[in-house]
Amino acid sequence: TVGAVAIDQYGNIAVATSTGGITGKLPGRIGDTPVLGGGTYCDNRYGGVSTTGHGETIMKACLAHDIVKRIDYLGEDAQTATEIACKNMTDRFLGTGGAITIDNKGKVGVSFTSRRMAWAYQKLNMMHYGIEKDDHFEQIVEQS
Ligand code: ASP
Repeated sequence: TVGAVAIDQYGNIAVATSTGGITGKLPGRIGDTPVLGGGTYCDNRYGGVSTTGHGETIMKACLAHDIVKRIDYLGEDAQTATEIACKNMTDRFLGTGGAITIDNKGKVGVSFTSRRMAWAYQKLNMMHYGIEKDDHFEQIVEQS
């Protein structure tokens, strides 16, 4: 997967998800990526999400929609909503996956139940990134 979430100065949120699918997929399989609410979902009022992982599991959990609705109904922040929704998905449906989230204030959430997920975001002049569980590296970005 390559996924991205972004917010502009007017509060417009955009999300995108692309994928090659999963190894050994059946011909014609589409997966979760283009399914709104599964691999991709956004609502300017609350936030936007892009997901990766086992598509059949992600679709059963409506993972991207669940994260945005947790922000909406429960008032959770992007990180909490992402963590709990990913954990609930794997507890209930066994498959693994992860998500990146941005809320309507520009706060970021990253979580995954798969072994690893490469992620990164930039805030001001700081790049944040990781791949393994509990990674959170930071690097100053030179302004050009
Ligand atoms: N979610 C994708 C699928 O199941 C795989 C991925 O790119 O993470 O098709």
